Amino acid sequence: MKVLKFGGSSVASSENINKVINIVKKSSLKNEIAVVVSALGGITDLLLEAGDLACNSDVNYKKNLKTIEERHLKVARELIAVNNQSSVLGTIKNKLNKLESTLEGVFLINELSAKTSDKIVSFGELLSSYIISEALINRDLDAVLKNTQELIVTDESFSNAAVKVDKTNVLIESFFKVNKHKIVVLPGFVALTEKGEVSTLGRGGSDYTAAIIAAATNASILEIWTDVSGMYTANPKFVQQAFPIKNISYQEAMELSHFGAKVLYSPTIQPVLEKEIPIVIKNTFDANAAGTLITAKSSNSNPIKGISHIENMTLLTLEGSGMVGIPGFSNRLFGALSQEKINVSLITQASSEHSICIAINSTDTEKAKLAIDDEFNYEIEQHKVDPLIVEKNNAIIALVGDNMKSHQGISGKMFSTLGKNNVNIRAIAQGASEKNISAVIAHKDIKKALNTLHSEFFEDQTKQLNLFIVGVGNVGGKLLQQIKNQQQYLIDNLKLQVRVIALTNSKKMLFNEDGIDLDNWKSPLEKADNLDMNLFHQKVTALNYRNSIFVDNTANESVSNLYARLFKGKCGSCYLQ
Ligand code: ASP
Ligand code: MG
Repeated sequence: MKVLKFGGSSVASSENINKVINIVKKSSLKNEIAVVVSALGGITDLLLEAGDLACNSDVNYKKNLKTIEERHLKVARELIAVNNQSSVLGTIKNKLNKLESTLEGVFLINELSAKTSDKIVSFGELLSSYIISEALINRDLDAVLKNTQELIVTDESFSNAAVKVDKTNVLIESFFKVNKHKIVVLPGFVALTEKGEVSTLGRGGSDYTAAIIAAATNASILEIWTDVSGMYTANPKFVQQAFPIKNISYQEAMELSHFGAKVLYSPTIQPVLEKEIPIVIKNTFDANAAGTLITAKSSNSNPIKGISHIENMTLLTLEGSGMVGIPGFSNRLFGALSQEKINVSLITQASSEHSICIAINSTDTEKAKLAIDDEFNYEIEQHKVDPLIVEKNNAIIALVGDNMKSHQGISGKMFSTLGKNNVNIRAIAQGASEKNISAVIAHKDIKKALNTLHSEFFEDQTKQLNLFIVGVGNVGGKLLQQIKNQQQYLIDNLKLQVRVIALTNSKKMLFNEDGIDLDNWKSPLEKADNLDMNLFHQKVTALNYRNSIFVDNTANESVSNLYARLFKGKCGSCYLQ
């Protein structure tokens, strides 16, 4: 058996669901399949918002309800033949009425428990799975709907419930043993507690549902169908050159998904890992793309599989002479954080024991500062420990790969690459397992850091040189001519791409982030913004490009006055003509 899971964007509209149906149809020719679906894209958020609105006596919850109703009815009308529509539309309306009553109740009593919120949000998956199963049946496929709530049992941690694995496995196994249908459609995310109350598995939890079913049925593969062609070497929003990773191990996938590669909900891997069931991440909108295969061992020999990052980090430093050699400080520090349920993403302590530095999510900053200063109140008064140092606007970037441990020089290369490009590293963490080397950097450097590291570790080594040229008179004009003549030669022979990012004459300044066309710069320069050296400097700084070179072709003092600021900032080198 195969398990296929389709995410919210894959089932967001009838057009998309038709793509899903084609994939399911093809897959079911050769296999028995379980199809786990998310709520239609965006519906979970609308449901949660409706709950909050109703709880705050805001009648606008009815607007959400209306949108939810319209979207489901529209999709059902578009997918199901007219003769068969009435009973399907009736069932949908019936479910929506139940949802409406629950929301009305919340509105009247102005109270929303996690338990009631789960009941509300469960309608997303219950509705989507019902409509999709009917659509499959409508196309004469041998499909049946099975409510996962009859199969997955959880504890009572509503909104993020823990699965009772043994009971759940028995229920799943016995259902699939007697099932006679080729295709079983199941809602993801939803479950029941032992007392029969509705629970859910956490945001993104449909992946987890699919993994639980795959493990319990010993499926041959778990296919996660989403809207991107796999896990990427880095976030493609930041790194244009990023590409899907062909094959990656469970451990590596866990490291990468943990770091915000939202393609996979990280708890998903555990159930299938134990049985070594492969996971493949596929793109519903490009079904032929290979995607990413996740297995016990990766066949890919590159010791580094991906670069990930987490934004919005705060760095906390606890420092003081009173900490050296005295046991129990870290215990108290982490105890105070755990009391406040604050998650710690990175920890470093030098062997001098004079300071401990940790990174946490920025939203927890104030809570953490209060809790820690309170815990060390006495030591702070005695000047044994300084008040906690708090630095916001940081980020973590990490290299991920199982085989880094058997390669020397990777961290050296990582840090020298960042250093050469003026990315300051605030803290470093590497576990002895060497699956992950993490560094804390300033938030503003994320894009540059990801791109430099990506180019160093994943791209053929064509380097980019970014020129900011002031003055295009005799000397400057000749320089541009020479650069233009040499551009191709430099790429072919030295793997060096020279780009002119900015040009100025005495009146105007022209910027092009992708490089100015050297065959045609005169008229764009005439039409460009007026020259203002302060603004010029601000733009160079904001672009924050690696390998930046500032070229001064003038004898103008207002330009040379800029050198010191440029040297301090991002322009690594200044050349004077
Ligand atoms: N619908 C739920 C969510 O949006 C579960 C899922 O899609 O995996 O978080
Ligand atoms: Mg989702």
